[in-house]
Amino acid sequence: MVGLTEKVLVTAALPYSYAPRHFGHLAGAYLPADIFARFKRMKGAETLYVCGTDENASSIVIEAMRQGMTPKELCDKYYPIQKEVFEKLGISFDIFSRTSKPIHYKVVEEFYRKLWEKGYIYPKEIKQWWCPNCKIFLPDRFVVGTCPRCGAPNQYGDVCEVCGAWYESFEIKDPRCSLCGTRPEIKTRTHFFLKLSALSDKVLEYVRDKKFWRKATYNKTVSWLEKEGLRDKDITRDYEWGPPAPFPG
Ligand SMILES: [Zn+2]
Ligand SMILES: [Zn+2]
Repeated sequence: MVGLTEKVLVTAALPYSYAPRHFGHLAGAYLPADIFARFKRMKGAETLYVCGTDENASSIVIEAMRQGMTPKELCDKYYPIQKEVFEKLGISFDIFSRTSKPIHYKVVEEFYRKLWEKGYIYPKEIKQWWCPNCKIFLPDRFVVGTCPRCGAPNQYGDVCEVCGAWYESFEIKDPRCSLCGTRPEIKTRTHFFLKLSALSDKVLEYVRDKKFWRKATYNKTVSWLEKEGLRDKDITRDYEWGPPAPFPG
C-alpha cells in the first residue's frame, strides 16, 4: 500500500521586477523559504517552491517613466536579471514566473469575480495626487515635499526620513511630483476596496491554534487582530498596466 504523499506549497514575497536584490532580501525571505523547501523535498514531500517578479505595482509604471520605457519594456529588461541572480545564489525555485503572464491575469480575474459575487468588494471614493504635467496619479512615495512635523525639505509624501514621522496623504507641505517637480493636484476617483474587515474573525480563528509560531510573532498577530482587526484594502489603480478589474463602473 502506498501512503499519501504530503503536498507542500512554498512561496516568498514577490520582488518588484526592477528593484535590485541585496543580502537583506535573501536572508529575510528567499533563503529561509529555500531551506524549508529543501527540507520538505528531502523528507519526500511533493514540494513546489514558487516565486516570480511582481510586475503590476504602481511603482513599476512610474519607474518605467523615469527610465523612459514602457512598463513592459522595463519588466522584460529586468526579469532575466532577477532570474539569473536567484539561480546564481542557488535558490531552488521550481517556478520563477512573472505576474504579467496570461495565467496570472486569468487567476486574478477569477478571484475578483468570486469576491465581487460574494459581496467582498465595494466601490469607494478616494482622493489621490495627480501630476498635471506627467498626467499620472502619484502614489505617496512619488510625491516629495516639506515634512509637516519638523520642516525638513525633500521628504516623501508619507514619511519623513529626518524625524521619522508618518503622516496622512495631503499633509505634506509644498508637494512636488518626484518625476518632474510640478505641484500635483488632488483628484477624487472611485476605487474598489476588498472588505478585509469582514474577515478579521475568521483570520483570528485560523491564527489562534498556531501555537508553534514564534512567540513574539504569535502574540503580536493575535493582539493586533483582536484590537485593530484588518483594514479594508484598495485593490484598484488608475493605470492601463496590470490585470483589468471586472467590476461595474
Ligand atoms: Zn510630474
Ligand atoms: Zn520630519
